[in-house]
Amino acid sequence: MADAAAAALREAAQALSGISDSPRLDAELLMAHALQIERSDLLLKLPDLAVPAEFAALVERRRQSEPIAHIVGKKEFWGLDFLVTPDVLIPRPDSELLIEEAIRVSASGSPQRILDLGTGSGALLLAALHEFPDAEGWGIDASATALQIAHNNADALGLADRAGFLLLDWTQPEWTNILEPGFDLILANPPYVATRARLAKDVADYEPHQALFAGEDGLDDYEIIIPALTKLLAPNGIALLEIGFDQAKSVSQIARKSGYHIELKQDLGSNDRLLILHR
Ligand code: GLN
Repeated sequence: MADAAAAALREAAQALSGISDSPRLDAELLMAHALQIERSDLLLKLPDLAVPAEFAALVERRRQSEPIAHIVGKKEFWGLDFLVTPDVLIPRPDSELLIEEAIRVSASGSPQRILDLGTGSGALLLAALHEFPDAEGWGIDASATALQIAHNNADALGLADRAGFLLLDWTQPEWTNILEPGFDLILANPPYVATRARLAKDVADYEPHQALFAGEDGLDDYEIIIPALTKLLAPNGIALLEIGFDQAKSVSQIARKSGYHIELKQDLGSNDRLLILHR
């Protein structure tokens, strides 16, 4: 059956075109997963491949809007593979901007101590530790199951000796007391979606609401995190905060109240995505 796999990929991409922005890519990732090979090898070997029995079932799951990362159990972020389950937010390409900017603002000296607020899968912390080989870092999260994933990712990436994870809920009073202050770099992709916002089905139905929603205007977590930075940052420390596309003004306002200088950055889609805070 020459080209059977190529035909199956075409059909799958067609079937997924209504529910996904990247139907062809999705089909390739599912086919590679079913064959237990890398997507890059898939394209090379395509003419010789038979269609694995479970491929149709995987495509059907995606057709019901289940995220690819949940079906294959992993997601690439900053060129690294992260284990992903429904307990953590799936790392987004837009969030790679935080790592890019962390590298840029550290040009005059690498951070020694890094903190990731709401670490989830550990993607931001572990990508940063990968880039700054002399740094050590801590990831905090209010979800114990998320921390287990982050821990596994640190192990799998060979970063466990420089990464610590703490179960910590910033909605509790005195939550900063357990952290030793003096962080050179603080990263955060906290929940920032307004409660009423309508999210795509694959996000709303499958990703943890605890990691997404932050009150009526999506600012609840920023109202807590930003004032706490004063205590946590080293004197020359810098905080990089991911924000929603329409939150540059509101989050800047919170940051100015705490006396920070602010720089705003856009993601690849030209949306406001990141605030850089320093003294
Ligand atoms: N960027 C995510 C989304 O649009 C939201 C992430 C978050 O709330 N931190 O679904």
